[in-house]
Parts: sequence; C-alpha cells; structure tokens
Amino acid sequence: MKTVTLRCIFCLEPNPVNLNEGCDERLCTKCSKPFLMDRPFRINQEDFKMTVLDSKLPVLVDFYADWCGPCKMVNPIIDDIARLRQGELIVGKIDADRAQDLMLEIEVTSVPTLILFMNGIEVSRSVGLEPQKIKEMAESAIEKEFPHG
Ligand SMILES: [Zn+2]
Repeated sequence: MKTVTLRCIFCLEPNPVNLNEGCDERLCTKCSKPFLMDRPFRINQEDFKMTVLDSKLPVLVDFYADWCGPCKMVNPIIDDIARLRQGELIVGKIDADRAQDLMLEIEVTSVPTLILFMNGIEVSRSVGLEPQKIKEMAESAIEKEFPHG
C-alpha cells in the first residue's frame, strides 16, 4: 500500500493516508476536514521521519525560508508538481528557520534546497534555483516508481 503519514492542516492530527484509494475525498480521522492532496504539505522537523522517511511514496522536500527570494520562485514549480503528480508523489515544504537540527543532520546549508527521498533514502538534490532540475527530479521519482515496460 502506498501510504504516507500527514498531519491534518486543520487539527494537526497525524493521519495515515492511503493513496491507493483513488482520488476520492480523504477526510481527517479526527476532525473530518478534507486532506487536500493537490498542493504541497507543510512538514516540520519533528515529523520528518514519520512523513518523509517512512513514506511509501516518493517525497520531494523543499527547504525554504520566508526571507529568500529564489525560494518564492520555486513555489509555482512545486505547486504544479503537487497538482499534476497527485497520488504519485508527495511534495513537502520545510521552513528552514525552524529546522536547524534536521538541516545539520542531512547537510542542508542553503535555501532553496530540494531533496527527493524514496524509501527513506535521499536520491537526488537541487541547490539554488534550478527549475529544470526540480522537474527532472519529480519525473525520475515517478519513472522509478512505475517503470515503463
Ligand atoms: Zn483534522
């Protein structure tokens, strides 16, 4: 099963979300509000293992900061990826100013940095504003997940 644990954006309850169930509405088990799967999720460093490393789906993580101009230019790119690859890939955003310990641990030294994780392992990384590379990373995740032929 392709499951990922995501926090409800309304009540913050962690929910295991099964993405094999088609694209029907998914509701929070606690507050019954919908999970919106067509956009990036916010992830904090405490949830990194639960949401990113333990995910059964590829996760593209965007380390950003509110004060960083190039980070804002990454947003429309990853919004598109989240919308177009809904159910195939999770896009997560991590506020770098609140994830210092995590960044030290996985050696993220600048923003924007985007890392693709599959099965808990980093498979590729983009540092700085690299729109083409970000798109290629998302494509490669899906090709590996669903090999052709
Ligand atoms: Zn909820």
